[in-house]
Formats: sequence, C-alpha cells, structure tokens
Amino acid sequence: MAEADSTTAEETLNQQTTETTDGFHIVIDALKLNDLNTIFGLVGIPITDLARLAQAEGMRFIGFRHEQHAGNAAAIAGFMTQKPGICLTVSAPGFLNGLTALANATTNCFPMILISGSSEREIVDLQQGDYEEMDQLNAAKPYAKAAYRVLHAEDIGIGVARAIRAAVSGRPGGVYLDLPAKLLAQTLDAVKAQQSLVRVVDAAPRQLPAPESVKRAIDVLKSAKRPLILLGKGAAYAQADAEIRAFVEQSGIPYLPMSMAKGLLPDTHEQSASAARSFVLQEADVVVLIGARLNWLLAHGKGKTWGAEPKKFVQVDISPTEIDSNVAIAAPVIGDIGSCVAALRAGLDAGFAKPGAEWTGAIAERKNKNLAKMAATLEKNPSPMNFHSALRAIRDVLKTRPDINVVNEGANTLDYARSIIDMYEPRKRFDSGTWGIMGIGMGFAIGAAVTSGKPVVAIEGDSAFGFSGMELETICRYDLPVCTIIFNNNGVYRGTDVNPTGGKDVAPTVFVKGARYDRMIEAFGGVGYNATTPEELTKALLEAIASGKPTLINAVIDEAAGTESGRLTNLNPQSAAMKK
Ligand code: ADP
Repeated sequence: MAEADSTTAEETLNQQTTETTDGFHIVIDALKLNDLNTIFGLVGIPITDLARLAQAEGMRFIGFRHEQHAGNAAAIAGFMTQKPGICLTVSAPGFLNGLTALANATTNCFPMILISGSSEREIVDLQQGDYEEMDQLNAAKPYAKAAYRVLHAEDIGIGVARAIRAAVSGRPGGVYLDLPAKLLAQTLDAVKAQQSLVRVVDAAPRQLPAPESVKRAIDVLKSAKRPLILLGKGAAYAQADAEIRAFVEQSGIPYLPMSMAKGLLPDTHEQSASAARSFVLQEADVVVLIGARLNWLLAHGKGKTWGAEPKKFVQVDISPTEIDSNVAIAAPVIGDIGSCVAALRAGLDAGFAKPGAEWTGAIAERKNKNLAKMAATLEKNPSPMNFHSALRAIRDVLKTRPDINVVNEGANTLDYARSIIDMYEPRKRFDSGTWGIMGIGMGFAIGAAVTSGKPVVAIEGDSAFGFSGMELETICRYDLPVCTIIFNNNGVYRGTDVNPTGGKDVAPTVFVKGARYDRMIEAFGGVGYNATTPEELTKALLEAIASGKPTLINAVIDEAAGTESGRLTNLNPQSAAMKK
C-alpha cells in the first residue's frame, strides 16, 4: 500500500514538472508580479492573443484606435503613478505609431514601456521581406532611454525587470521592449517559468544629495536678495508634495510653477508669482530650479526673459548631466527631489532670512496690477465668444471641482488656458509638455481617467483635437467620464485666412466652417453640446461633469480670435526673419 502511495506521489510530481506554459503567459505573469495591471494598446498580429489572455488573467486592456494615443495614455499613467505605463502594439507600422509617444515620454521624463510584437529575426536581419518587416530595436534606440529584445522565454522575467528599472530609476523615460512573435509561442516548463520571474525590488531608489552640495546651495540662497523658486514637472512627478510645500513656505521664497507643476501648491497660494512671471524672471538674483530644465520653455536661462543682471542658479535634479546644459549652475544638488528638498529645508537654519518686503512687496504689487488687468479682460462678454470669455466660464466651474484632471493642448487654447485656469491639486494638469506638441489630448485624457478613476476635462484647440479625435470612440466604449471641450474657431490658429490666389482650395490654416464636433461623439453614444455663449458653456460643462459620461462641448469661438502659433510666433522662420 505504502509503495503504491509513493508511486502516485512521484507521478504527481512528474505531472507538475511536465506542465508547460508559453511566452504569452510569462509576459503577463511578469507584468502582474510587478503590479503592472493595465495595458493600453491596439491588437493585431502577433499580439492579439497577448491582449486577450491578459484580460482573461485579470489585467485591464484598454484598446485604442491608433497606437500613438495608447502610448500617450501609458506615458501619462506613468507620470501620475511613478510606475511605467504599458503600451502594447503590433509590429512595424503599429510600433512606429507608438514610437512617437515613446519619444515624447522620454523627452518629458515620463516612465513608460512600449512593448511591440516583431517579425521573424532571421528574415528581418537578412532583409528578406517579412510581413511588417522592421528592425524595431534599432529604430527605437535613439528615441528611448533604453531598448531591449527578448529571444528566449526563460529571459522574459529578466527582460521585463530591466525594462521597469530603466523606465523609473534615475531620470524616468521611455523603454522599448521587443518581443518577437516566435518568443510568444515558445513553451517552457511551468515551474521553470515561475522561477524565472523577477519582482523588482526598489525600482527607483532614493538618491541622497551630497551634504556639501546642500551646504553650497544654502550659502547661495543666503546671499540672495531676490530669490525665486521654479517648480517643474519633475517636482510634480516626485510626489514630494508636502516636503516641497514646507520648503516654499518655510523659506518664504516666491515661486513659479511650470505648467505641469501647477497645483503642486494651489495656484491661489500667496507666494505664487505666476501673475508676475516676466517680472520675477527678470528681477530675481538667485533662482532655485526644482525638477525643471532650462530648455526653450525657460528661454535657456538667458537673454531678455532673464533680465540684464546675471543670475545665480541652484538646480535640484536627479540627472547630473542636466547641470550646466544651458548656463552655468552655481550650486547643483543631485539626488531625488524628496531627499534634496528635505535636506535643503533642514539647512534653512538661523543664518537664513526670509526674503525682505522690498522683494515680496514688489512682486505683490506687480501681481495685483496684472490680475486686475486680466480680470477686466475676462469680464468682457464679446459676441461671438473669444478665448477669454469661454475660459472664464470653464475656470469658474473647475474652481468648484479641484479633483478634476485637466488635459490641455492647442496653440492659443493652451497658452490662455494655462494662465487662466487655476489648479489646486498636484498632478492634475497634463499638457503639450517639453516638445510643445499637438496630439496628446485624447490619449492623456483616457490615461488620466483610467488611472485616477476621476473625471477629466480636456480643453482642446480644434486643430489639436484633430490628431486624436477618433479616440472619442474609445472614450465612449469604456464609458469614461471625459468631457472634451473644443475651442472651435474654424482653423489652425484662427479661421480667417484666405487663399491669396483666389483658387478653390482654402488657405492652409482653414477648416470646414461651422463644424459641429459635438455630433462626432453622438455617433458613438456620447452626449454632445453646442455652446455659443459663456452661459451655454457653463451649463453644458456642469451637466457634463455631473453626468460622469463621455461628453463633448463644441465651444464656438470668434474665428478671428487667436494669433499665429499662439505665443510662439517668434519661432516661425518668417516672423523671426522679419524681426531681424
Ligand atoms: P518642466 O518642463 O516642467 O520645466 P522638465 O521636464 O524640463 O520640467 O524637467 C524635469 C526635470 O526633473 C528633469 O530634468 C528630470 O531629470 C527631473 N526629475 C524627474 N524626476 C525626478 C526626481 N524624482 N528627482 C529629481 N529630479 C527629477
């Protein structure tokens, strides 16, 4: 009897060890083991089954109509959570569509992983003409923080672990993970597969600043008469909200938030110098950059924007090579923002004095003057609506709902909304970012809605919306609480340009006049509104938010409103040449 029993046990063991799994399941297990439970993607050969199985295994799969928007959704999920957002695409064209989002994520320091299926290596490498043939790994490299390919099922666990660590450690960014079709179909002993998985420990370790770098920074701060803190989206990403607020308040230094750092402290905070931006950039003598780069968005730290007097910069950043990238940095503080700001705060000892009334008073005076001017502009009620009167209506509604996520893109729509719409909570504003690109709208809106479970209001120029408009179907399919507001002025920048030849074609910047974008969402079961006055816009937005349903408001703006390229007119070659 005893003998018979032991045979049975051995048989069972044999059965266990001969149980197999495949590449599809190992990828899913590797992601789930690392708490990555949502995939944004678009199915097709060879990854349809990966998406199906992921859903069957309890992951959320959000299917898009174009990979770029799936990638943008993944990227913004990464920014919001500090975990890499996952985007899944097919090979060659699908991969290339996703690559735009991957490049944008890398540029913006958002962690994401683009996973693409790929064709047969042997055929691709000999360029023998495979279905969707492309050397995706090498194509991805210049646009990603890192790029990896996995060839053997037993390496999937390590491949996913490397991708996660590369995406979130140090300066976050986009990572490409290449999964050939053959790999997904490979089988492996189930126990071995389980053992090959890696749960990443401490994916983004804290990096403490060197004490001497903190001391140097404090010394520079002590020498300041007119200090300024500049908060960038790195500061928002770092989720060190309480520490940053304490540093700002304890130091008494006025601050400016970059657009995606808005809400880190409420925009209504008395130390916010946003309404005196030009003044403080010109007049400050010491500027503390916290998670903000001195790129084009800050005029590279030099020139007219920064006034005549040379500045001293303190720069807090995780990336040592960011330092001195545009101008000399007097005091670099390298480390994670939470640790660096905590160390700086601890360094605000008895020898540090809050900035004097001469500086804070001058800022307050400038602020009040500009705010009064803006209030007068916002109060006007022109017919048809202009950007200001429409944004006033939106601002007043959003003020009552600080938890709402705001997505914003366009030229004029971006520029005006950024300064008119106040933000009250961190990581609630998502926009065109470091590249200043159009096309992030619906991808970010979907990513933000899925990730936060909270409503999203996407404030879109009519041109910007066009890049991702088909994703309205995705919004409706998943019944997401996204309200898209289109600032419709019949064209790119505005709708009044004419074809100088008198020919049949409209001018390059002009769209169909009087387009009814609200009817687009109705095609998919969403609710559309057409708003021609601020009152109609207010009513529609209140109703849209209360419904928690997919909605779209076509906000009809004066077609003559809007300037060429918004505030970037000087970047147009002809305008720049004319200025010279
Ligand atoms: P903005 O466009 O808002 O000015 P940038 O994207 O130019 O902001 O700058 C963000 C900076 O923040 C990058 O230089 C990046 O290296 C840095 N950064 C991102 N995350 C962290 C972090 N956790 N700790 C320190 N620095 C960070």
